[in-house]
Amino acid sequence: MQRTLTIETPAKVGDKVLLLGWVDKRRDHGKIVFIDLRDRSGIIQLVLTGEIPRLSLEDVIEVEGAVKARPPKLVNPKIATGNVEIEVLKLTIISKSIELPFPIDNDGYDIEEELRMKYRYLDIRRSRMFKNLQLRSQVTSFIRNFLTKKDFLEIETPMLTKTTPEGARDFIVPSRLQKGKFYALPQSPQQYKQLLMVAGVERYFQIVRCFRDEDPRADRAYGEFTQLDLEMSFVTQEDILILTEELFTTLIAEVFPDKHITQSPWPRLAHKDVVQKYGSDKPDLRQNKKDPDELAFAWILDFPLFAKQSQEDFFHGSGSAKFAPSHHMFTAPHPDDIKYLDSDPLKVRGLQHDLVLNGYEVGGGSIRIHQNEIQDKVFDLIGFTTEQKKQFSHMQTAFTYGAPPHGGIAPGIDRFMMAVLSEPSVREVMAFPTSASGITSVMEAPSSASPQQLDELGIRIINAKK
Ligand code: ASP
Repeated sequence: MQRTLTIETPAKVGDKVLLLGWVDKRRDHGKIVFIDLRDRSGIIQLVLTGEIPRLSLEDVIEVEGAVKARPPKLVNPKIATGNVEIEVLKLTIISKSIELPFPIDNDGYDIEEELRMKYRYLDIRRSRMFKNLQLRSQVTSFIRNFLTKKDFLEIETPMLTKTTPEGARDFIVPSRLQKGKFYALPQSPQQYKQLLMVAGVERYFQIVRCFRDEDPRADRAYGEFTQLDLEMSFVTQEDILILTEELFTTLIAEVFPDKHITQSPWPRLAHKDVVQKYGSDKPDLRQNKKDPDELAFAWILDFPLFAKQSQEDFFHGSGSAKFAPSHHMFTAPHPDDIKYLDSDPLKVRGLQHDLVLNGYEVGGGSIRIHQNEIQDKVFDLIGFTTEQKKQFSHMQTAFTYGAPPHGGIAPGIDRFMMAVLSEPSVREVMAFPTSASGITSVMEAPSSASPQQLDELGIRIINAKK
């Protein structure tokens, strides 16, 4: 017999079915026992009489049974299969479960996070987490379809690469073949996507993992996150804003039909004005902040190209420069302000756009520099030495072979999901996030490398505590 999913049972009254899943609940009424069987599609009530096997919660079982309509007064309108139940003819225990370390029949917010992460595979059995992952999958598949229909190519870029200057600390990976040298995990595919524009791809996207060694916060997981990275050639900033707005508006209508967007078209606000008015460059523009179904998107534009260099560690200690890029060093200056690059750099606006949702910055992007003279000037202003400039010489070489004007954006998938679902942390929308203290779920990395591994890499640990 072929497997039937619990959700399919209401259409099979009178049939014999084979069900597979977990023991979700058990209610003993003496000679009759009710079991809720759970599979990926939901739950169904099983009715057992006669000799009843010793079942524990979360045992995996196989059931052969007959689908019966429930008498009207026993219909349970709260579940999708509430008008039927299964009269069990044969029940086999496939795999036993010991007692779980925490309950999974609630929302789980009150359970210690480290414990949830240690047993994440159990935590995901709770319906809230499973639903979050389902919605996330619907979101990424919607994005793929939407962009593919618009002629975008999905292209993968390397994970073992060179440092990408998004302003955070890199994760580095030692090389065995080139002892003493290191790869960096990408903070974003920024340089590769620009190189793909030089390559003539014109429209690129990737749902991609990015790595930044920054302290975790509610809206930022430690270590890695996922973004929708996209880039287009021969576009204006307006084209990028319109495409992004259409993408998210149609996505919300399809995947989150109960949500409403506060204002469409999305408001476009100048950086200076929002900071003055709200004291933040990511204002929460919801009309009713208690309404979990309200989504207030906004664009923040007209950022200054440079901020005064206060982060002394910008790009690992070129700390003597006066200016740091507000976005990143590839962002183009506003054409009207190029004239101030020499005389008054802080007056220059960048062609940067930030996407804000309910008070979170869910994405950022820009029109890029594609002329070497301007890139040189920006490198000088942010205090790059000749040595540091050399690290980006591949970009400047590429730009000598006919570089199209280009620009893009990269909305964060985790942060978007967190904001849309009103979850308190990005970790609630990731399958296996690191904990707040930087320990990966279940596998508990980082861990020590064996002496052989270190030897092969030519590495000696001098002070593990530091
Ligand atoms: N690479 C940028 C980031 O990760 C996004 C972009 O400029 O497209 O923030």
